Amino acid sequence: MTYVTDVMKPKNIKLADETSFAAALKILRDGGLVALPTETVYGLAADASNDAAVAHVYALKGRPAHNPLIAHILRPEEAGALAHVNALAQSLIDAFWPGPLTLVLPRKNTELSQIAGGWLPTIALRCPDTVWREAFIKSGWTSPLFMPSANLSGRISPTTAAHVAADFGDKINLIIDGGACSGGVESTVLQIHEGHAVLLRPGTIAAEDFAPFVTDLRLPDTAPIISAPGMLASHYAPRAKVRLNAIDVREGEVLLGFGAVMGDLNLSSLGDCAEAAHNLYDYLRRLDREGVQTIAVAPIPKHGLGLAINDRLKRAAADR
Ligand code: AMP
Ligand code: MG
Repeated sequence: MTYVTDVMKPKNIKLADETSFAAALKILRDGGLVALPTETVYGLAADASNDAAVAHVYALKGRPAHNPLIAHILRPEEAGALAHVNALAQSLIDAFWPGPLTLVLPRKNTELSQIAGGWLPTIALRCPDTVWREAFIKSGWTSPLFMPSANLSGRISPTTAAHVAADFGDKINLIIDGGACSGGVESTVLQIHEGHAVLLRPGTIAAEDFAPFVTDLRLPDTAPIISAPGMLASHYAPRAKVRLNAIDVREGEVLLGFGAVMGDLNLSSLGDCAEAAHNLYDYLRRLDREGVQTIAVAPIPKHGLGLAINDRLKRAAADR
C-alpha cells in the first residue's frame, strides 16, 4: 500500500534518515519497540538485554513464549561474545555477513534476556545489511536487538512500513520507512554443527550458494525436533485460502500468476524468483484486503530462491 498524500500516512511512520534513527535509538534505550526495515522483511526491534521490552514483543505479536527470537548484531565480530563460533560458522560469517543469513549456534552465558531463548541451548544470530546499521554503530549502540518479523504471529511478514502499520497501528511508537524490502522473504536459517549444517528455514540466500562452504548441508527433517514458529505447518498465512500449483482459475478464486501462467496478478511475468519473492507478501496482503476467498498460485520453480517461496506458500496453504 502506498499513501496518496502525507496526510493519510500514520503519524508513527517516519522516513529512514539520521533524525528517525536517533529517535529509534532513544526509544530502544528507554525500553520501547521500533519497527525497522531490513533487506529481508521489516522487524520489530527490542533491546535484547531488556526483559520488559522483549516480553512486550511477544505480547504485541501474540507469539508463543517457547518460540525463540533471532538476535541481530551490528558487526559480524560480535558473534563470538554470544555464541561458540566454529570454523564452519566463521567461514559463513565471512562470506555472508552483513546479509540475510541466520546462524543457529551453541549459546554462551550472556546478559541477553532469557525470555527470547525458547529454553534452547542455542541462539540464532544474524548481522543484517540495512540502512540503519552504520548510524547505530556510529551512535555507540552496542546491545544486540531481538527482532522478529513485524507482523502478528502466524500472519504474513511485512515488506513495507504500511504493512507494519496495518498489523499494529499506533501500538508501536515508531516505524522507520525504508521503502519496500529488497529481498521480500525471510533470512535463510542454518544450524551449524561440527562439519555439517542443517537448513532450518530456506530463505533469501539460496541453498545452492552454500556449496563452496558447506559440503554436508542437510534438510530440516534430519534436525532434532525444535519449536520454531517458521517451521510450524501453518504460518505466513493470509486470511484467504491458498491453492498451490494452479494452472487454471476455479469459481471464486483469484489466480496469482508466475511466468507464462499470467493470472490476475503476476508475481514475475519474466519468471524471475527474486522478483517474485520481492512481490509475494505485498500481493498476498493486497488480495486479503480485497476480501478474496481463495488465492490460487501458479507453480514456482523448486530450486534457488523458489525453494523459500514454495516453503512459505506451503505454510500459507496449510490447514489452520
Ligand atoms: P522470525 O520470528 O520471523 O524472525 O523468525 C525467526 C526464526 O528463527 C523462527 O523460525 C525461529 O523459530 C527461528 N529460531 C530462532 N532461534 C532459534 C534457535 N535457537 N534454534 C532454532 N531456530 C531458531
Ligand atoms: Mg516471523
